Amino acid sequence: MQAKPITIVGAGLVGSLLATLLAQRGFRIDLFEKRPDPRKAGFIGGRSINLALSERGIRALRMADLDRAVLNQAVMMRGRMVHDRDGGTNMQRYGIDDSEVNQSVSRGGLNMLLLDAAAKAGVTMHFEQTLTAADFDHHALTFADADGTQHTAEAGVVIGADGAGSALRAAMNRHAPLGERVEPLDHGYKELEIPPLAQLPDHALTPELRARRDAGERFAIAPDALHIWPRGNCMCIALPNAEGSFTVTLFLPRDGKHPSFASVPDAAAARPYFEDDYADALACMPAFDADYDAHPVGSLATLYLDRWHLDGQALLVGDAAHAIVPFHGQGMNAGFEDVAILAPLLAESSDLAEAFEHFQQQRKPDADAIAAMALENYVEMRDSVVDPDYLRKRQLGARLAERAPRHFMPRYRMVTFTHLPYAYCLERGRAQDMLLTQLLHGHAQADSVDIDAAVTTLKATLPPLPA
Ligand code: FAD
Repeated sequence: MQAKPITIVGAGLVGSLLATLLAQRGFRIDLFEKRPDPRKAGFIGGRSINLALSERGIRALRMADLDRAVLNQAVMMRGRMVHDRDGGTNMQRYGIDDSEVNQSVSRGGLNMLLLDAAAKAGVTMHFEQTLTAADFDHHALTFADADGTQHTAEAGVVIGADGAGSALRAAMNRHAPLGERVEPLDHGYKELEIPPLAQLPDHALTPELRARRDAGERFAIAPDALHIWPRGNCMCIALPNAEGSFTVTLFLPRDGKHPSFASVPDAAAARPYFEDDYADALACMPAFDADYDAHPVGSLATLYLDRWHLDGQALLVGDAAHAIVPFHGQGMNAGFEDVAILAPLLAESSDLAEAFEHFQQQRKPDADAIAAMALENYVEMRDSVVDPDYLRKRQLGARLAERAPRHFMPRYRMVTFTHLPYAYCLERGRAQDMLLTQLLHGHAQADSVDIDAAVTTLKATLPPLPA
């Protein structure tokens, strides 16, 4: 029997994993990518040098037998290390133990590993091919070479994994409106770097850092955490890289009163701001001024579509269908979960139009839910993590989860460490939050809540979590 052909546009994280899983299921895959092959030309990043990978993403990698190879390159993050203005730190663990951790992975390293896997699975790859137009009436896609020469390729079925600015989505939308809505965030981001400890200049080292360096440690700050400097309306975060550095991301309002990217447009203005608000991080960033001036301010937005497909002809996945803000560390994970659901669905289906519709029906409520939770998590990370009310709820939630694990699981854990649908996590999280508010009413401390009575109320109020 002849293999069914599918064209995939975009060989980023989602496109290359989807290509692999479909090729492994007997499809004939052509994968088109606008950038050069990063395995030959080096990875051309553009944004977020590293990413938090969690269970949903790992499951999809496991389906392609790639989980161990990816985890071998990753750095485990056990929780959030919260930094106050005075340099004090407080570790908030993500889960119950090391089975519930996030993994910091290099975008470039992961993309190259996925491309290797796609090549091994028999995917035909076409680099430096930018999709410029799609004619759905004649099943034709137009690509531009690196020198701008245009050519047309026949494509019966096409899947767009070409990211938030998807050219395939634009072409589909021109053919039949998809109900597109983009909500830009009024905050932007800028990437900075804490280099490996050995690269910090001696004069910048505290006695403690010098002792750690001399003992051969690679990382300037704790490597097993996602670091957060919450500052109310804005924040810095830092994720570790395997070679010992940290990618630091500053999130600030784009405009408006200080602090905003408008009030700290360059290093000269940003340095005093960092001296006040992020002094411990600044002490570990010897190239701060050069990085601040060289790196652009990135934009963030949430993309909503009413429709992700054109019957059986074209489908969008990953950021092309549902780009979200990065504050839950779930954009790639959600894209990988798309792939884990879509690949078996297509392999088992004889009617692609039906399969595409089924995929959208299943995934769209979940995409909308993680979009909402990602926006909510920005407030949690930049503000709530030091808010006494939040901390009381977190503490009581942890006690309930320990005493009644079948009935209570903090929403972050549901989203990050389970496969419960995102829409369920959102709804259950709201119900649990209301219950915590009710149980804490009149209590200044979580400890003073009668835990036996609280467990009884919990079990009477909420059904058990799905197995
Ligand atoms: P992309 O990664 O954007 O890949 C699209 C691919 O398509 C690219 O290779 C591109 O070159 C190619 N392409 C584009 N246009 C064309 C064209 N016209 N023709 C051919 N090829 C084309 N997610 C997490 O899960 N965890 C995190 O910690 C996390 N952190 C983030 C931090 C930041 C600052 C940002 C911005 C995002 C973060 N994300 C995170 C989200 C994550 O980056 C995205 O969800 C993920 O990259 C989506 O993968 P994708 O393959 O759908 O799109």
